[in-house]
Amino acid sequence: MYYKVRYGKKYIRSFPEEWLMYNIKGTGPNECANCEEYGCIDKIFIGYCKNCAEIVYYNKRGDGFDKNAEEDLLEGVIIQPNYLDVEKYNIINYLVFLLLEKIQHIIMPKMN
Ligand SMILES: [Zn+2]
Repeated sequence: MYYKVRYGKKYIRSFPEEWLMYNIKGTGPNECANCEEYGCIDKIFIGYCKNCAEIVYYNKRGDGFDKNAEEDLLEGVIIQPNYLDVEKYNIINYLVFLLLEKIQHIIMPKMN
């Protein structure tokens, strides 16, 4: 997945620089355990957790993830910030890649 590194963490490529600049203390993958847990796919920050999104940003940065980013995106039940529209195929490609990696040993067993 295309990403960028900011403050020692991986962020999805289109994550708004402005949001990084105006990150409210206690939110995001560096300062909130829920953001790190629920807002990341394979340690790449996709978006805020539901708590930060609702309580701190009043849903101005999306509805936030409450299960995990992968599941919430696939279910499509929550409103996501615009940058994720741009990243749709970036994310889908990566999820397919992760899935193939997981099942590779089943479909292509190692020869001895
Ligand atoms: Zn959070």
